[in-house]
Amino acid sequence: MSPETACIFCHIVAGRAPAAKIVETEHALAFLDLFPSTDGHTLVIPKRHYENLFEADEETLPEVHLLARRVARAMRQALAPDGMMALQLNGAAAGQTVFHYHTHLIPRRAGSELRIHGREQADPAHLAALAARIGAELE
Ligand SMILES: [Zn+2]
Repeated sequence: MSPETACIFCHIVAGRAPAAKIVETEHALAFLDLFPSTDGHTLVIPKRHYENLFEADEETLPEVHLLARRVARAMRQALAPDGMMALQLNGAAAGQTVFHYHTHLIPRRAGSELRIHGREQADPAHLAALAARIGAELE
């Protein structure tokens, strides 16, 4: 099996797996993490499969990060967090759990516990409503 056929993010890009999508561009997609660290935890990915920063191509990488900034701004409007983490992990030793390049956007409250990966699956209906709320703030 190729990496793409086994990859959950490739299935989301292709519409074969469900996700609370916020917005997509030609080469990038933003959707809510199914196991959120905090409410609004979002992932921004290239539609093309590559595993990490070392393999990232110059065509899609800027688009992924410009979309991350656009979505972060919309999250700030919709959720008014105290801060925003933008994290990109490379390799299992760095905490990467899905081996398709992604940037985490994690809204933070002052004093809240710091963790990257949530332990509980979020309610899909809640995620869909949240995606719509954030999407409504996109410029
Ligand atoms: Zn993939």
